Formats: sequence, C-alpha cells, structure tokens
Amino acid sequence: MPWGLIGQERPLTVLTDMLRKQRLPHGLLFHGPLGTGKYSLALALAQALNCENPGPDMSPCRKCRSCGKIAEGAHPDVITLTPKGKLNIIPIEYVRELREALSFQAYEGKYKVAIIRDAHRFRDDAGGALLKTLEEPTPDTVLILTAESPSRVLETLVSRCVRLKLSPLSRTQIMGALSQKGFELKASCVLAGLSGGALGVALGLDSETTLSIWGHVDRLLGIPERAKFLKAAIDWTNQIAAEVDKITKAEDDPRAKANFLGLIQNSIRLWWRDVTALAATADSAFLLGPPPSAAQKTWSRKVTARMVGGLETSMAKLSDGLNRSMRAALLFENYWLDVLEYF
Ligand SMILES: [Zn+2]
Repeated sequence: MPWGLIGQERPLTVLTDMLRKQRLPHGLLFHGPLGTGKYSLALALAQALNCENPGPDMSPCRKCRSCGKIAEGAHPDVITLTPKGKLNIIPIEYVRELREALSFQAYEGKYKVAIIRDAHRFRDDAGGALLKTLEEPTPDTVLILTAESPSRVLETLVSRCVRLKLSPLSRTQIMGALSQKGFELKASCVLAGLSGGALGVALGLDSETTLSIWGHVDRLLGIPERAKFLKAAIDWTNQIAAEVDKITKAEDDPRAKANFLGLIQNSIRLWWRDVTALAATADSAFLLGPPPSAAQKTWSRKVTARMVGGLETSMAKLSDGLNRSMRAALLFENYWLDVLEYF
C-alpha cells in the first residue's frame, strides 16, 4: 500500500504515469460513489506532489514534514473547499479566496493544490468563478474536484478536467481494512455488508449501534411464533420511536435521524438479502453479511419467489414513507405485519 490507500489500482496507475512523465493536468475530477476514498486520493496526490522524499513509484513517503502537514490539513499550499452550512453549498466568496490564494507562488511546497469536495454544490456563479482558475492556470497549480458523478458537476468544469473514476471496494478489501483498524470479525462483517463497497461509509457507521440493530433484527426474525413475534416487533418499534424522539430533540445533526432510520432499513434489507442468497446456494462466498445465523438458515428453507417479491414491496413502502417523513413507528409496524404473512 505505498500510497496508503486500499484498492483504486487503476486511478493510481494513471496518476503514477502522469507524475512520472510530468504531465499532470491542471484540473482533475475524481468521481465515484460516496465513501470510496476520493478525498483520501486527492490528499495522497497533494502529498505526492509536495513530498520531500517520494518513492521510486512517485508515491508519497507519508513521513516527511510536508506529507505530515498535508495529512493534518496544516500545509499552507494545500487548500480544501468543502460545502458548508445548512444549505451545504460552496459560496462564491470561498472561490474568490481560493483564487486569491492560488495567485501566489507555492509558499512551502512545490505545488499549490486545491481540493474542491462535492464539486456539484456550488452556489450560483461560484462554479463559473472557479472555471476562470481552470482556464488560466498558474504554473504548478493543481485543482482536484471530487464528486459522486460527473453528470452533476457543471459541464464547463468537467470538460476542463481529466476524469478518474474510483470504484467500490470488494468485501474482502473492506473487511481487511476494518480488521486492520481493530474491528472484530462480526462488526467487520456487518459494517462491510452495509458499506456497499465504500470504506468511508463503513467507517462512518457507529459499530456499537450497528451491531445492536443487527442483533435486534436477528433475534426478532428468529422468533418462530406469530404472537410472540408480533409482540417483540411492537416492542422494538416503540424503542425505535423513542430513539428517534431523542435524536430529534438533540438536533445536533439534521441528518442524524435519517441516518439512524436508514441504518435500520439497510440492516433489515441485508439480513433478508443473505437469507435469499442462502436459499439459492450453500456457498457462503455469496453472503454479504456475517456468517448466517440459525434464524437466517431457518428462513432460507422457506423462501419463495413470492415472498422475496413481497418483502421487496414492503421495504419499498417503508423507505417511501420514511422519505416522506411519515411516522417511523407506524411504518415499521406495518412492515413487520407484512412479514407476519410469511410465517
Ligand atoms: Zn513525504
């Protein structure tokens, strides 16, 4: 891992080649799903450009003063613009300040690097202002834009950048990274399963909450009797509602409630997804979550095509209701009532 990154061999090969030939373009656009490491790659490139002791493959040493400062966000020649505020936008003032900063020569390093995160979130003409920087670049200046999809970024900006696509990581890569960070096997399995191949997503989840939700789903669906299942489902639904109230009152982060409810939905979805996979094949390589539980094995023996379709419809109803801010407790209750049909 000379670049300190997991996966992304293709963009790294391209960048290494550009650095070797000293043909790095002034504008780059790193795109790929949320959490695939676009910002980490941008920082690594900024390090490589300013490293005091780069490797023979042009990778940054990640040990020198310059690499350290960039990692800490303290390098005067590496500037990051991130959308801010309730509207989550990049205002034009930020771009003006950036242009001003880029008009000077590199202060400490060899290159001035500007990283613009979520480059589709420009306010009004801020994108247009940035365009001027790309059209009239000062030498030794590199602009790195990051976005989930180029189609959402201002076309005139995209057309002046070389695009590099970052792909989701494999489950094995995510599991490896998580275990290296000290996560236990069960947590790594659940987090990797919920990550959709994005390490950033896996690391953004609170492992304790995630494991607790997974445990709830597994215990609930492990109850074989209808009456007991229904009672436990209502109990858990009430707990969810209480937690949602708590989060809403705290109001620290407007996305916290949606994230919490999304995590529950995704956990239920993953749980059933592996039940369906188990029904189709005994090969555990096709599972995305942790090793199958007794409950999952039991359900896998009674899965039918009608049930799979039905569960998908019920989940879609749940998601739709939550997106429209309907009462979570009611939606989850209805979902579990739907599940009861397959007992
Ligand atoms: Zn270095």
